[in-house]
Amino acid sequence: MGIPGGSLRGSPLTGSSLAAWRSLRERGRGGGAGTRPFSLSAAAGAILGLGGWGDDGGKQRLTLRDVAELMRKKECRRVVVMAGAGISTPSGIPDFRSPGSGLYSNLEQYNIPYPEAIFELTYFFINPKPFFTLAKELYPGNYRPNYAHYFLRLLHDKGLLLRLYTQNIDGLERVAGIPPDRLVEAHGTFATASCTVCRRNFPGEDFRGDVMADRVPRCPVCTGVVKPDIVFFGEELPQRFFLHVADFPMADLLFVIGTSLEVEPFASLAGAVRGSVPRVLINRDLVGPFAWRQRHNDVAQLGDVVSGVQALVELLGWSQELQTLIQKEKEKVGRDKTWLLDSNPAFRLFSPSADDGLE
Ligand SMILES: [Zn+2]
Repeated sequence: MGIPGGSLRGSPLTGSSLAAWRSLRERGRGGGAGTRPFSLSAAAGAILGLGGWGDDGGKQRLTLRDVAELMRKKECRRVVVMAGAGISTPSGIPDFRSPGSGLYSNLEQYNIPYPEAIFELTYFFINPKPFFTLAKELYPGNYRPNYAHYFLRLLHDKGLLLRLYTQNIDGLERVAGIPPDRLVEAHGTFATASCTVCRRNFPGEDFRGDVMADRVPRCPVCTGVVKPDIVFFGEELPQRFFLHVADFPMADLLFVIGTSLEVEPFASLAGAVRGSVPRVLINRDLVGPFAWRQRHNDVAQLGDVVSGVQALVELLGWSQELQTLIQKEKEKVGRDKTWLLDSNPAFRLFSPSADDGLE
């Protein structure tokens, strides 16, 4: 299960609130009785089930409201986010792994033996066309970030985002303005591309013309086929993925948004934060360790992902600020006079009503 939780190994980044939590935790176990913790907030007390919070005999579990409170009080300021397809479907990104989706139908003309073949190197070298059909669809520019992406951007703007680990290859985190150094694109990106022969690396933008014209891009140096840096089956994950070794033990809050936590090694990361760290799942269903190895400080906001994020944003009191950010970005996109998907349901949420999506 990745990194064992609990060991801080002398990390200089242990906040006083964490120390307080640990101290509280000892108290909860009967150790260190009488020692007054430094900064006991009601929410932190609630995490540890110390009573005086709620009315069910101290068994009150952590809620989304408690998490918002911890964030507002800056008791959580090293937020790690794990994101999956669920944050991109509201942008209209097709579920390209599912038969019946528009994209899959587009691929049928190539008679690919099975959908996964488009991410297999052996198949790619025989017939790269199906993959480039997907590339054409997902190349930066076709889709726009939605409310969930901009929430993550705001998290970054506020200096709270330690890292965003995404399984998505649509690049919408970048489009939303989250800097690449805050991102781990675990399954790769179209933002860069590499020659399959000489391994030279290029900006993905260099091959936009080829991809859009249904031409297989070729290396300007050796004429080898150039492949966008999407991780294929059997390929190693990007080096940046190994940032998790430092990031997860350092995190003081984990968001898991829109992912079924089915794909390894990504999925195991959810268990790599320390036991004292609240984990918040915003997803359609209860998944992964939230279903089978739940912790006392796990929170599950189930249902529509954008509505779940919106509920959190309202509890944080960030609605207006996020609205302003989205409007600003929308105008920027408008100036670029590309895609304006006003028919997209995700964009109706730009003007949320007061209690939309709240419990
Ligand atoms: Zn080359």
